[in-house]
Amino acid sequence: MLKFTALPTPLTPDTSHPALIKPVTQPSSFPCRRCLQDGRPGEEMLLLPYNPFTPTPSSTSTSPSPSPYTGPGPIYVHRSECAHYQCDGSVPEQQRRRLVAVRAYDVENMMVGFAIVKGEELGVKAGELLEDEEVKFLHVYYAGPGCFAVRIDRGGE
Ligand SMILES: [Zn+2]
Repeated sequence: MLKFTALPTPLTPDTSHPALIKPVTQPSSFPCRRCLQDGRPGEEMLLLPYNPFTPTPSSTSTSPSPSPYTGPGPIYVHRSECAHYQCDGSVPEQQRRRLVAVRAYDVENMMVGFAIVKGEELGVKAGELLEDEEVKFLHVYYAGPGCFAVRIDRGGE
């Protein structure tokens, strides 16, 4: 069982990088990382930098450990509050129809594996990567633009 985790609601604002407001100009091009639905023409998105990593056991603060792999990257979220994605264990439709890079990280946020797969193969590949005990979580990125999409953990039994 895979657990897909979208971004929290609300996001912690990064005041050093104000969000840009972007009108949705075409369908299937503005993937919201919170509800995991694409923006629809007529809606507005926020484009902002977001660091998807979480603190590690050796961190002395609430900030993510300074692994060379951590750091903010660009993401879209709906400008209006949207519902946080509720995981049902299957690959979200938003990732299933895109080419994705899936990256495996250890407990110290160091990358220990990766693959590029079609979204419909993400579930199988994620399961394979998580068979390695060293791997603690996965991040999925959109392979073309290289933007963070969603986090995957081992789900419950
Ligand atoms: Zn949304």
